[in-house]
Parts: sequence; C-alpha cells; structure tokens
Amino acid sequence: MKPRFTALKGVSDVLPPETGLWRKIENAACEVMGPYGYDEIKPPVMEQTELFLRSIGDSSDIVAKEMYSFTDKGGRNVSLRPEGTASIVRAYVEHNLSLRPAPQKFLYFGPMFRYERPQKGRQRQFYQLGAECFGVADPGIDAEMITMLVSFLEKIGLKGVSLEINSIGCKECRPAFKENLKAFFTPHLDSLCPDCQRRYEQNPLRILDCKVERCIQIRQNAPLISETLCQDCKDHFSGLIGLLDAMGTSYFFNPHMVRGLDYYTRTVFEVKSEGLGAQNAVAAGGRYDLLVSEFGGPDTPAIGFAAGMERLAMLLKEAATGEEVFPGAASPAIFIATLGKEAATEALKIASRLRAAGKRVEIGWSGSLKSQMRKADKSGAGHVVMIGEDELKTGKFKWKNLKDGSSGETAKEELLAKF
Ligand SMILES: [Zn+2]
Ligand SMILES: [Zn+2]
Repeated sequence: MKPRFTALKGVSDVLPPETGLWRKIENAACEVMGPYGYDEIKPPVMEQTELFLRSIGDSSDIVAKEMYSFTDKGGRNVSLRPEGTASIVRAYVEHNLSLRPAPQKFLYFGPMFRYERPQKGRQRQFYQLGAECFGVADPGIDAEMITMLVSFLEKIGLKGVSLEINSIGCKECRPAFKENLKAFFTPHLDSLCPDCQRRYEQNPLRILDCKVERCIQIRQNAPLISETLCQDCKDHFSGLIGLLDAMGTSYFFNPHMVRGLDYYTRTVFEVKSEGLGAQNAVAAGGRYDLLVSEFGGPDTPAIGFAAGMERLAMLLKEAATGEEVFPGAASPAIFIATLGKEAATEALKIASRLRAAGKRVEIGWSGSLKSQMRKADKSGAGHVVMIGEDELKTGKFKWKNLKDGSSGETAKEELLAKF
C-alpha cells in the first residue's frame, strides 16, 4: 500500500479558482493603500519565541495556549508567528527604519499560525493582510488609517460594513483602570471562568473580552475605561472622533471594546460586516505607542490593523452571484486542436504568440479531432482552432466559436488580430 497523504488537521489548501478571489483582495489592498503610502513588507514567518512573549504578552490566550513553538536544531526557541505586528516592529527597530522620514507605512500579506480547535471553524494556519504605520502620534493618522480600511473593504465589495471604536488609555491612565476593574471583579472571583481567574491576576482588562456567558453576565456593570481616561487620552480620542465626522466615516463608540493583545494603547477599532452571524469582525486594529521602545527602538507612536483573508473571501463569495464569484478564474480563450506531430509543433508556436499577447491558450496534444473537441468544450474555451495536414499546407486555419456556433477560416498571420 502506498501512503495517501492528507493535510494536517486544521490547515488547508487554497485552490484555484478560490486563489483568484484572494488575488483580487490582495490587489485591491495594494490599489487602495498604495496612494496612502503603504508599501509591502515581507517579514519571516518564524521568530524567536521571546519576541511574541514580550509583545503580545505571556498572559494572552495566544501565547499561553496557541503558539506553535519548538526548539530548532541549534537549540533556539522558535515560534511560528501568531500575528504580524510583532515581526514588523522587530524589523522596524532592527533596520533602523526610524531614521527614514516619518511616517513609515507598511502593508503585509501572509500566513499566521495558532493552535486552535479546528471545529470552531478556525484554521491553524490562516492568512491575514494588514498595515502598520510608524511615527505619528496625531489622531489624524488614526482617522486616515480607519478611513483607508473602510474604503478597502468597500472596494472589494463587502456589504454592511460597520466600524466600532474605543480608547483603552495609555500607561498613565490604564493602571488606575486596572485597579478599578480588579476591585469590581474581586467579589465575583469564584464565579469567573478559570481563564478569567488567571486574567484577574495577570491582566484584568482581558476579562472584558471573555466569551464565556457567565463572565459576560458578571461584567455587565463593570467600570468603563472612558471614565478613567487621562486628559491627553480624552483629547486624542475626541480628536479622532472629530476627524471621522469631518471625513464622513460613520462609526459606533463601543465603550466595552478591548483587544486581546497587551500592546495596544489608546485607539482600538474593529470593522464588522453583515453576513457572518455573531462572529462577524472582519478587521481589527489599534494603536501601540509603546511597542517600538519596548523592543529597544526610539519612542515611536504606531498604529496598525489586520484583516482575515478566509473571512473576507467567504463573505465575498456569499455576496457574489454567478461568474463574479471567482474573478481570477478564466477559461481558455482559445483551444488549439492538433492532428499529427507537425501540427502540434505549429500549435505550440502559435500558442506562444497568442499567450505573449495575454490570451489564455490550451493545446490538444493527441487523440481524435472529436475527442479534442470534447475536451475543448469541457475546458470552457471560447474558440477552437484546428490544425491538421491541410491547414499546414494552406496556412489557413479553421476555427469555431464554441459560444455561438459560428465558424470560419483565418490565415495564420491574422490569427492574433482575430482572437
Ligand atoms: Zn491616558
Ligand atoms: Zn471568562
């Protein structure tokens, strides 16, 4: 028995024509974000484990339970990246990108890895596209990025896009809020889920993000961070709101929103789309003004977001109808049926010329004319061109339009113009 391999549990292949849809999404990201100054960065998919412990936070679910970490042959502790921002901040510091004129703006695409239970509909290798902007503290850049994200989602055809924003404070005002939260949860400590009991000690902010029903119940009257923001954070947030209003970008203020990662400060945002039920966030992000200096770089304010490719693709498929579903999926424009070795050689030459002009061409290499016509039909080709002995002699090729049934004969030199 030969082994029959399958992909690992929780990871999957993205096949054509689905990949065409992914390409469309990525191209749209470049088209929309390029004019805003975002250029692509390609960080590696693995890093020192320490990098993620220091940035995402070792109390986060990601680091505590979901990281793909291993010791490599050199005895180094390595992890597959669970998200993109940490690597990009590492690259920003390592290559002294702070010396380049601010702001520095980056766009990325690629796989992320988290060891999650696949039955929740989540992949262990999943793809994100994201953007990061370094060097501007002004809420103007927050408004710019959020507006850009919404335009991108609208450009790819997402329906019912809605934006939620909040501020989660800074290192001046957050400690007091954490104390307030702790005081609030202390009488309920025994009723919280085991994860939240751990969060209570390590980072009580995370309790606000718990999905367990009894934790949601308990926290209903928890204090809000908006009540304890320092004046600078208040000004920053009202600055953002004023700019979003001025741009006509609609938003909801969600005072309960926090993020699952430790490094966020001030602005956090989430974009939802109709059509995914309860779990309908398609993109999320926020400010991380302390992370660059945490990684040994100069004090550098920064902001970013990430969007899940699988989710975007699923929503677009849901919304689309008929042929628009997979824009990258093209049937051959021309199928060349050949009879004999010489004809096949000629077909390859002609196909090269047509392909150089951007036409998608397939060749029927062998078999009867009838069986090649069947193949052409199945392939969805628009035209069949036939090459046999007669055609080679006369230099005129018979063709048939498979869509409307019309047919004719065209000289070799005119083929390019004809199709
Ligand atoms: Zn503050
Ligand atoms: Zn909980």
